[in-house]
Amino acid sequence: MAIQQKLSLMIPGPTPVPERVLQALSRHPIGHRSKEFQDLVESTSKNLQWLHQTQNDVLTITGSGTAAMEAGIINTLSKGDKVICGENGKFGERWVKVAKEFGLEVIKIDSPWGTPLDPEAFKKVLDEDKQKEIKAVILTHSETSTGVINDLETISSYIREHSTALSIVDCVTSLGACNVPIDEWELDIVASGSQKGYMIPPGLSFISMSQKAWEAAEKSNLPKFYLNLKSYKKSLLSNSNPYTPAVNLIFALDESLKMMREEGLHNIFFRHNKHKLAMCNAVKALNLKLFADENYLSPSITAIKTEGMDAEEFRKKIKNNFDILLAGGQDHLKGKIFRVGHLGYVNDRDIITVVSSISKTLLDLGRITSQEAGEALVVVSKYLEKN
Ligand SMILES: *Cc1c(COP(=O)(O)O)cnc(C)c1O
Repeated sequence: MAIQQKLSLMIPGPTPVPERVLQALSRHPIGHRSKEFQDLVESTSKNLQWLHQTQNDVLTITGSGTAAMEAGIINTLSKGDKVICGENGKFGERWVKVAKEFGLEVIKIDSPWGTPLDPEAFKKVLDEDKQKEIKAVILTHSETSTGVINDLETISSYIREHSTALSIVDCVTSLGACNVPIDEWELDIVASGSQKGYMIPPGLSFISMSQKAWEAAEKSNLPKFYLNLKSYKKSLLSNSNPYTPAVNLIFALDESLKMMREEGLHNIFFRHNKHKLAMCNAVKALNLKLFADENYLSPSITAIKTEGMDAEEFRKKIKNNFDILLAGGQDHLKGKIFRVGHLGYVNDRDIITVVSSISKTLLDLGRITSQEAGEALVVVSKYLEKN
């Protein structure tokens, strides 16, 4: 029987929240115009720049990840602007919808769900744009719906060759999980959200804006008020916010960024990579198949095919028997895949436990032998040993 309080979240957001962060959240709110709060804004914005590996402004918005992506689009573009949207999953699809909603002319570069976007397809369209009509390239780094990571480094190098187009990137499940060196790759706009790698509850989103992005903001004519980033930039100069921010989430952010600094970027990326490898090799040992192209696996989420088995039923068994919440497939993938989130506050024990729970369930269903179940654990331990 499930014990609700001990539910373990292994979905790609919201992700588990450390006790230190929960305690920070439980404080009484303070005035958002107080000196104490300004000090917090000062320290969180410095630590956000550290996490983003950038000297650019990193702004905090009270709103989910979608708010930051929408802000990136509406602050730098104008009605009728031509943009490229990369689409190889649910989130890529969302950014196409947002762009169209704001009257942008979308050139879609897509790839079947489960496969990565082809950087050469971006290069071709950008190279052909001699009139420099393309104003931005909008894409998703880690496509959470399919467990695919796109080759952002190469695509962004092609965007730089074009020279005038901006990059607007959804890094919601890559930032704080794998290397996204914003300054080195010269990414213009990078969006992320609190309930993912940040280890805090939903409610905040973050947006990094390059100098080039701010220059584009001077010309943008799309309507905006709450999400007008110029107000956020201006108030950040005095360590403040244009509107009332989610004060307690800022307490949580301050604590989680401290935890990240204690662990160090290298160790954080190493841990996510190790868990990704442990998961994908366990999947193979359990005679299951990965949904995503094995050379492009997201550090944060593993999508698993359940051929001949209803993935929703499988997920329910894991939840009822082991108190572990896994994610299902979205849209046409519902019932066909399930997804294991290993993003944020996740340790080796979580990985061993989730693999054991999956093995035990497959064993009960007669899909694997006890020897195979045992071997999967040997495989997992081998990857987890690497430190
Ligand atoms: C979670 C997520 C988002 C943000 O979704 P919100 O519900 O608005 O926070 C955006 N992109 C990706 C890839 C995500 O995983």
